[in-house]
Amino acid sequence: MDYFKIASELYTKALNGGIDTADMDTVINWPVEKISILFAAADQVRAHFFQNQVNPCSIMNIKSGGCSEDCAFCAQSGHNKTDVEIRNLATPDEIIARYEHASKHNLPFCVVSSGRKLSRDEITMVVDTLAKCKGEKHASLGILTKDEFALLKQAGVSCYNHNLETSRSFFPSIVTTHTWDERASTVKLAKEAGMDVCCGGIFGLGETWEQRKEFCLELKALDVDSIPLNFLNPVKGTRVPAPKETPLEFLKIVCMFRLTMPSKVIKVCGGREYHLGQLQSLIFFAGANGYISGGYLTTGGAGVDNDDIMIGALGLAKKKVTSNV
Ligand code: SF4
Repeated sequence: MDYFKIASELYTKALNGGIDTADMDTVINWPVEKISILFAAADQVRAHFFQNQVNPCSIMNIKSGGCSEDCAFCAQSGHNKTDVEIRNLATPDEIIARYEHASKHNLPFCVVSSGRKLSRDEITMVVDTLAKCKGEKHASLGILTKDEFALLKQAGVSCYNHNLETSRSFFPSIVTTHTWDERASTVKLAKEAGMDVCCGGIFGLGETWEQRKEFCLELKALDVDSIPLNFLNPVKGTRVPAPKETPLEFLKIVCMFRLTMPSKVIKVCGGREYHLGQLQSLIFFAGANGYISGGYLTTGGAGVDNDDIMIGALGLAKKKVTSNV
């Protein structure tokens, strides 16, 4: 097999809208000893659409733990016996302080709450607080109504995150308290509200490559703007065993997503440090152009300064955050 020639064909197809399902199988079956050739194609597609610009973001867990939903992998589910702190909604001052910290580091700021959804009073408080934050802000507050999305939009929230977590076919093995279609409906409502949508999932749950392919195509069909890819960082007390995937297998997932959705923002999020360790910078060569900087919902991260050093050494630069002033 001439892997250089195949990689070149994948690159050309990606520049023309994305690889097809047969090409996705080629990526899935790509031998690990030849993966640097696949990286070259994915990296050059990333560079074609984003040049040296990367899109990190910073998240704040504004309401932690005690979630009614039974997502088997999640440290915040009330169905799992974890040590995660159960914390009521953060105060406006706490949210604004974290927003200012993110702005100082040129990072979009995203508030994330556990639970199926916030109460109307809680949403009002979050909306009023975010309206005072004049830079780029995003939100992930669970299932919202059309009216609630309109409130967020009025407050200047530009992007809504709602992950589908995994493929439609594998979802019932991981979550039983709500359906994949309910999640997809929320994604569609956010899009209809005129917001950018950030929607991805988590890998290393026991899903097959066929289910990863299915998931990738489902996200492509939804035409979301940004796709966070998480690699399961197992927390004691959750119900999914630690993933057995190697770092290179996780990175091959990134390649498949980049080549299938060439112009979308693809972020490597939770599990980056845990699974990739010293190979973290390879996320960009695998085609990612974004990441979460400064820690996750219930686990720590590499730190904003270390992330800044990493991208600087690669000749990459953070996209300047927009202002809603
Ligand atoms: S993933 Fe979200 S909905 Fe599921 S248990 Fe965790 S916080 Fe709740």
